Amino acid sequence: MKLISIVVPCFNEQEVFEETYRRLTDTLSQLDSSKYDYELIFVNDGSKDLTVDLIKEKIQLDPKVKGINFARNFGHQIAITAGLDNCKGDAAVVIDADLQDPPIVILEMIKKWEEGYDVIFGKRRERAGESQFKLLTAKYFYRFINRLSDVDIPLDTGDFRLMDRIALDQFLSMRETYRFVRGMVAWIGFKQTFVEYDRESRFAGSTKYPLKKMLRLASDAILSFSNTPLKIATFVGFITSVIAFIGILYALYMRLFTENFVEGWTLLMISVLLIGGIILLVLGIIGEYVGRIYGEIKRRPLYIIKEKMGF
Ligand code: UDP
Ligand code: MG
Repeated sequence: MKLISIVVPCFNEQEVFEETYRRLTDTLSQLDSSKYDYELIFVNDGSKDLTVDLIKEKIQLDPKVKGINFARNFGHQIAITAGLDNCKGDAAVVIDADLQDPPIVILEMIKKWEEGYDVIFGKRRERAGESQFKLLTAKYFYRFINRLSDVDIPLDTGDFRLMDRIALDQFLSMRETYRFVRGMVAWIGFKQTFVEYDRESRFAGSTKYPLKKMLRLASDAILSFSNTPLKIATFVGFITSVIAFIGILYALYMRLFTENFVEGWTLLMISVLLIGGIILLVLGIIGEYVGRIYGEIKRRPLYIIKEKMGF
């Protein structure tokens, strides 16, 4: 008997919860019950609506359902981690609560898993109901990341994936605070493949990823997987120094060998502003990394669970 764990991060998902539960259960009951068992783990990431009550209600009705209730909102990537930490499956699947990832694809993933793959991620063929802005930023963002970093994050994938216990345990041994799960999974390696699917639009409710959270995820992705910004900072600093040096020679020449040195004022202003700007830029980049070092060094627990339900 193999146990499949399904991890569903939920943040204010009261509008979709029932339907998500229904579709997941429908799909998973199609599995051969003499070979597979499953558990559904809903992680309530500090929702302010009725999500947690709905989860509790389901736990009473269905012994396959389990819940983790966070003490506050810790974010999608952390919610995924908590669910995976607490699952017992021989394989674990992460899926969004909003039905953008069709549960039926899980069956294909399990098939691939049985063929011997350790990580099977969902690759989006079509993306319905997403803003032009999101499509465009996502498209270029992942190409950008892959150029910057040494891990190759598969294009057009999200956090919808199945992981075998072997890969999962390796992933869970990485306890860093700033988590970009996609990158971390790519980093661990193992035998990885994908299944293609059409991403649907959200079943109900609105996105829980406002621009601010997207930007945070993006900076976690870049800064956790690449030191290139630091190298760029050094390079920019170096180039500016060279230009500044030439500027100084020029200013000296004007002062010493010509009469019209007052005109150097323009150059002076430009260089002061330019160099000041570059220094701030470089300091900012360094500051980002220092901030992260500070965050990691604290070794705080990644999340605080208020209660575990149904385990
Ligand atoms: N989510 C979460 N914590 C958050 C934000 C989102 O657990 O702080 C969950 C959310 O409930 C959903 C998944 O992460 O299951 C993806 O979020 P969403 O569908 O809103 O993102 P989008 O598809 O718009 O990028
Ligand atoms: Mg979504």
